[in-house]
Amino acid sequence: MSSPEPERSAKAASYLRIEGVGKRFAPGAAAAVDGVSLDIAAGEFFALLGPSGCGKTTLLRLLAGFETPDAGRILIDGVDMAGVPPYRRPVNMMFQSYALFPHMTAAENVGFGLRQDGLPKAEIAARVAAMLDLVKLGPLARRKPHQLSGGERQRVALARALAQEPKLVLLDEPLAALDRKLREETRFELVRIQQRVGVTFLMVTHDQEEAMSMASRIAVMSDGRIVQLGTPQQIYEEPASRFVADFIGAVNLFAGRVAGAAAGFLQVDSAEAGTTLVVEHAPLPAGSEVAIAVRPEKITLAPASTAPNRLVGRVRGAAYRGEASTYEVELAGGKLLRVTLPNTGRRTEGYATGQGVMLAFAPAAAVVLPP
Ligand code: ATP
Repeated sequence: MSSPEPERSAKAASYLRIEGVGKRFAPGAAAAVDGVSLDIAAGEFFALLGPSGCGKTTLLRLLAGFETPDAGRILIDGVDMAGVPPYRRPVNMMFQSYALFPHMTAAENVGFGLRQDGLPKAEIAARVAAMLDLVKLGPLARRKPHQLSGGERQRVALARALAQEPKLVLLDEPLAALDRKLREETRFELVRIQQRVGVTFLMVTHDQEEAMSMASRIAVMSDGRIVQLGTPQQIYEEPASRFVADFIGAVNLFAGRVAGAAAGFLQVDSAEAGTTLVVEHAPLPAGSEVAIAVRPEKITLAPASTAPNRLVGRVRGAAYRGEASTYEVELAGGKLLRVTLPNTGRRTEGYATGQGVMLAFAPAAAVVLPP
């Protein structure tokens, strides 16, 4: 006798399964989505991150059912979505523009899908009130979109996306219309709401800070493909390529050639660095070309340092940013580095333009990448 158990547990492990999905908008055109496979668990806050045109919105639209894949399968809770129209999918999409109905009040906007579903009036009223409470908009229920701020409109759109209790909410650049401060506050709010409702969120963004601060896992996309998948910390601290290292945060890259390996360390000759760098890494054959990546906050500036990776440079520019200062430092060979130092004291004296400095970073602070 077969047991339904294995199938149920497989579903729980992967609520959304994308298998080799591809989409080309015209014959001969480059694939907008190129053989993407991905498993997302129920309750995850997942982000698709990549530069403009990398295919992330197309992938979202394929999941919502607004586009049809040319290849592959999309399964939601174990059910193949082929041929299932958007309104029959357990999915709701929150659009970048929010797409609120201008002639409807906030409450009417939130209740729109529920009315379409033909729910009883009393239930609609109760759910709309609960959703508006969730996004802290109860007192503004009777306002129309033009009487609301950008942040309030964003919350109406979110309440509307959640009202029909979808299992999966797709968010297309959900914070793009907000100013910087509101965007930062709203990040926490979105995560709090997602955790409280327990729904699966799949967000598309080109803003790496947004993806890092909200998502539990991130897929970095480039040219229609996923180039790296991991937690925010893995993506930032263990980038798999120059593209990912460079796209996520700032990075200093040194071209070099492996000179030797011993006891978990590599020696890498780098003309750009003007020295032999020592980095923590498994052995690689001598002569291999590599790129050494070091984040700006992992470099220290010191008048004299005894650390293994010591570089000599001169401050070319300084930007005071409040919580930290970022310096542009030129090495003897002309290579420009970016160094970020926290302003821990109120009277921390920074480095002046033109000042000679010694830079250093620990062997474990660097990542070895393909050239
Ligand atoms: P952005 O961040 O700018 O929205 P994106 O990563 O979401 O970018 P997509 O909108 O998915 O990128 O577009 C991926 C590629 O597919 C682009 O080259 C785009 O020009 C193309 N594309 C998207 N939609 C269509 C369409 N309806 N017809 C033809 N080409 C399209």
